[in-house]
Amino acid sequence: MDINAQNVEQIVRQVLQEMGNKPMPKSSGSQGEIPQKSRAAMLTALEKYEIKEFPIPELGDDDILVKVEGCGVCGTDAHEFKRDPFGLIPVVLGHEGTGEIVKMGKNVKKDSAGKPLKVGDKVVTCMIFADDPDITMYDLNKQNVGKGAEVYGLIPDDDIHLNGWFADYIVIRGGSTVFNVSDLNLEERILIEPCAVLIHAVERAKTTGILRFNSRVVVQGCGPIGLICVAILRTMGIENIVAVDGEEKRLSFAKEMGATATVNFKEHNGIEALAGAVKDAFGGYLADFAFQCTGSPVAHSNIYKFIRSGGGLCELGFFINGGDATINPHFDICAKEITTVGSWVYTLRDYATTFDFLKRAKGIGLPMEKLITHKYPLSEINQAHITNLKMEGLKIAIINE
Ligand SMILES: [Zn+2]
Repeated sequence: MDINAQNVEQIVRQVLQEMGNKPMPKSSGSQGEIPQKSRAAMLTALEKYEIKEFPIPELGDDDILVKVEGCGVCGTDAHEFKRDPFGLIPVVLGHEGTGEIVKMGKNVKKDSAGKPLKVGDKVVTCMIFADDPDITMYDLNKQNVGKGAEVYGLIPDDDIHLNGWFADYIVIRGGSTVFNVSDLNLEERILIEPCAVLIHAVERAKTTGILRFNSRVVVQGCGPIGLICVAILRTMGIENIVAVDGEEKRLSFAKEMGATATVNFKEHNGIEALAGAVKDAFGGYLADFAFQCTGSPVAHSNIYKFIRSGGGLCELGFFINGGDATINPHFDICAKEITTVGSWVYTLRDYATTFDFLKRAKGIGLPMEKLITHKYPLSEINQAHITNLKMEGLKIAIINE
């Protein structure tokens, strides 16, 4: 065989390319290098995380040990950090996490969607139904909150301690829901939880029968929730979206996510002027449907004025009690026959839908990963929360080194 220089170069290039496509497995994986202890960031007092070390316990037959790769900082974490409204201190927080399976009990074979699980797979967790094993992921009833459902990262401390994703390792116990998401990258996996909130909201919106292919849709609030809302609407084929916010930076990101026009409420004095600006942005029409994605009571009062007669509204901004809002039932709801739905959290089914949404979003070129604006190592978790409270970025994430 005559191998000339050109051929050799070609072969070398091909081999290098193949190596590049298939990275060497990390030593942390199935190679048995599991340490005896794991760091965990424990919130021990208001506005104070301490990095502690806990022994990694023996796994039960139904348990999974996951090496954490990263975890988003949520609004709920911010509330806990500031005020501990759930009374969880001392607690290992972090519920928007993901990582790699390093060890599994002998009974663990499949994830909650029936996909096979093995050491090396990337996973996320959803809710834990330890008290109610009859709830399955295809349960159409929304049994996602309240008694019988818990979430890793919001569990009271126990003798295992490794209960949240702000750690190097987390112990996923039998009875938990876990999903194999090895086909999503780290940033996408960190965004699953907040995206599921919006998948649920859009499913709620669809029950009105008003949201259609060529609907005019207004999205009020361009934090992570509103921006993800715009992205989901785009993956559904809705093209006529007006985003409303008070920050130019967020509005321009809304355009990158697929909003056709934006309205800065700070440029309009009074609700009549603001409603006029929204109407102008739709070329002289009010919205067929509106998503309210801020936690501001005034924003709730305002949004009815953006919606046409016979239109619909999904209110999802009040994840926690943000106070009362004033509306005029005659003008805002009755005379216009507005159909409203509320939305809160998600179901297991929404979680599974979210994995497909993230692939679709990538497929049509939406810059989802840019939602993660700040990354901190675990050792700087206090700073990560301070940045989050200042509302400087969008999604803040802890990325383990
Ligand atoms: Zn969250």
